[in-house]
Amino acid sequence: KLSKRLASVAHYVRKNDRVADIGSDHAYLPAWLILNQRIEYAVAGEVVEGPYQSALKLVKQLGLDQQITVRLGDGLAAVESADEISAITIAGMGGSLISDILDRGYQSGRLRGEERLILQPNIGEKTLRTWLMTHSYAIIAEKLVMEEGRFYEIIVAEKVTEPVSYTLAELTFGLFLPEDDPDLFKEKWQADLLNRKRILKQLEQAKQPQPEKIAEMIKMIELIEQL
Ligand code: SAM
Repeated sequence: KLSKRLASVAHYVRKNDRVADIGSDHAYLPAWLILNQRIEYAVAGEVVEGPYQSALKLVKQLGLDQQITVRLGDGLAAVESADEISAITIAGMGGSLISDILDRGYQSGRLRGEERLILQPNIGEKTLRTWLMTHSYAIIAEKLVMEEGRFYEIIVAEKVTEPVSYTLAELTFGLFLPEDDPDLFKEKWQADLLNRKRILKQLEQAKQPQPEKIAEMIKMIELIEQL
């Protein structure tokens, strides 16, 4: 059984997508997708030897060698054109690392622009949305989930031909999240606001001027209070 977080990622994989799961760790997500007859082929990419071995082991145990190719590689280097990937999932990493993986895929041509991107950043959602926007990826769906007291955002994007433009508030809070589950959304940002106010107070008490950070935080708080 998948975690609620990974189940939410799986929800956006279309029937018979050819999936590349980058940073797959144990390959739980591709294994679940195959075992539940959602897809027939996946690549599980890992850059670290330990998780790569875990993925190989699980795929072997489940007898899914034909359906899941496990490759050791950095980001989208684990993907080959013959895989004909139609959906890329990247979950459980920071938004800036996900952006970096996408960016290197974009530079190398491994990210073709035809794949649906299903992304679950742990932090740095704004950085990731900004990368998507500047590379003409339209955000087509988003989901906020809570698991074991932590909030997770899932961002689904597809490449479009026209330029994409989002406001600072959309980049920060998401396009669909305020309406999707307003109570959970409020809960997330109220917790975030409290946290930021606490940091501000600590900085003040420590007489630590960090002008740029403070300005950024105040801007954020103002944005939140407008909600
Ligand atoms: N995707 C799984 C999930 O969401 O539960 C595993 C998340 S785990 C916290 C992050 C994984 O990403 C680690 O196994 C790490 O080795 C892998 N990783 C980090 N940077 C990577 C990169 N550049 N290319 C491929 N895998 C990477």
